[in-house]
Amino acid sequence: MIKKYTRIGNIALGVTVVSLGAVMYATANNLMSEDARLPLIAVYVISFWTMFWAYAKAKGRSGALGIVLPFFNVIGLVILLCLKDLSNLPPDWACEKCKGKNPALDSTCRYCSAPQPS
Ligand SMILES: [Zn+2]
Repeated sequence: MIKKYTRIGNIALGVTVVSLGAVMYATANNLMSEDARLPLIAVYVISFWTMFWAYAKAKGRSGALGIVLPFFNVIGLVILLCLKDLSNLPPDWACEKCKGKNPALDSTCRYCSAPQPS
């Protein structure tokens, strides 16, 4: 996990929980008018999406994944939690023969089949 994004995700999680609690409390006790609740609901939605984006980035995944998954709500969260952490992979390697860039897990060059230099 990438610490910088994990921290952003944790802060967004806190803001999500507090703003959702405030919206639910205000609704249940009829404390605010519907118009007055809108900014609070906006904070909740933005922090919810930010949380997914940050946790996807922390796992070394595309931030776009964190934009799509919140549409699936709890199922999206379970999918995000089950995804393999790609942030600890070694960096890509460059082929000595053709200078092509290859993913760390490939043992031969994807362009010219030359073996990965050790
Ligand atoms: Zn090559």
